[in-house]
Amino acid sequence: MSGESHTCWWAPYALTAEGWRERVLIEVDDAGWIVGLRPGSREEACQTFSGPVLPGMCNVHSHAHQRLIAGLTAYRAADKDSFWSWRESMYRALDLLSPDDLADLSAWLYAELLEGGYTSNGEFHYPHFLGRAAALDSSLALRQGAEQAGCGLTLLPVWYRYSGFGRRAPEPAQARFVLDADDFLSLCHELNVHWASNAVRPSNQRLGIAPHSLRAVAVDDLNELVAAIPKDWPVHLHIAEQTGEVEACLASRGRRPVEDLLDSVAVDSRWCLIHATHITATERSDMLASGAAVGLCPTTEADLGDGLFPAAEWQAEGGRWAIGSDSNVCTSAASELRLLEWGQRLRCQQRNLLLTPPVHLGASLWQQAAAGGAGALAQPAGAIEVGRRADLVELQPNHSLLAGLSPDQQLDTFILAEQPGMINRVLVGGQCRVSQGVHRERERLEPAFVDLRRRLIKAMSQ
Ligand SMILES: [Zn+2]
Repeated sequence: MSGESHTCWWAPYALTAEGWRERVLIEVDDAGWIVGLRPGSREEACQTFSGPVLPGMCNVHSHAHQRLIAGLTAYRAADKDSFWSWRESMYRALDLLSPDDLADLSAWLYAELLEGGYTSNGEFHYPHFLGRAAALDSSLALRQGAEQAGCGLTLLPVWYRYSGFGRRAPEPAQARFVLDADDFLSLCHELNVHWASNAVRPSNQRLGIAPHSLRAVAVDDLNELVAAIPKDWPVHLHIAEQTGEVEACLASRGRRPVEDLLDSVAVDSRWCLIHATHITATERSDMLASGAAVGLCPTTEADLGDGLFPAAEWQAEGGRWAIGSDSNVCTSAASELRLLEWGQRLRCQQRNLLLTPPVHLGASLWQQAAAGGAGALAQPAGAIEVGRRADLVELQPNHSLLAGLSPDQQLDTFILAEQPGMINRVLVGGQCRVSQGVHRERERLEPAFVDLRRRLIKAMSQ
């Protein structure tokens, strides 16, 4: 497997698809694929990792533009603040953005997410029309952002038509999201043409679709939509984030959202149900039988006061799951995993719930989320094994809390007692994007984002 065009990396420990392996030589070809994996090797003539190496994390659910309002909604806007008042602030931020701004903003966000251990992002993209630009321009801006930061991207253009169940007409602020069926499919077609050409790293870029939610599309239209797109594109949908959404679905359709979806649509393993927060035990077992994955976004769900998904039961039953940074109020993969586990501890009044002994909690959480995320994004990543892209995260073994620990203890500590400086390098397709915890383009990318935030704060104060 060796050849002059290959790069080899040596790691003291690597969390492979079969668990931790020691003294591992990882061979990477010029296109960024892992072509050899040899435990028990010597480090000679290799680039060397000093800390344990993990598969890069896959982030299944991001709305890049929402990074702009991170931290800016921490005041009470009404008698009882909720998701719905937060959404008003987010709509205001969109008034400011052009596609060029979105390219700058997403490049910065994806750089921050790389620093947080995410090597691929699923962008659930619904603000299609920014300023007077065409819908295609905002999608291409996100691709440009991902290329600048050097991460994997699965762009999930969103189909959004209505403001509520029963095909309610969209509100004026939602006009920038709305596409009819023909326009949505022609956008998908145009994106497919662009994605097939002109990508810096073709393997980093994937496409899927995202019917927004059963509020914003009619469930009866979904079979036809899914039949019209390529068979290998993933399908993501917000399903049951809010109790208000469940009540509205019951009132309009006589069924809860998950029931309604599974009764009406041929859901299978291509599907990722985002925020399946409010479900019954029957819905849970029907979701499991469908083969769909769930996309959990613990910090955003906490920030928005959504509720807790029954992850402990889902995991025990063998359900696939992944994590998402969603509103990007937080850009650390370890923080999402920690809050996911802690939420279940608070719910069940037990500890160490999201693991299968004897695997440690950290390794169990990280591997399940990385592999589940890669599947949900159709990214050839999420595990350290031959045939996958060399997306790797190296911990910093000299950090005061990690020094002297076994690799399992280092990963447990990184997730449960995370501190700045615990990630050393992050590679995507064998190329180093983050070193000593800092994205290599951080200084270049930061000013445009800071300018945008200043513009937003000024607009909010007027
Ligand atoms: Zn979302």
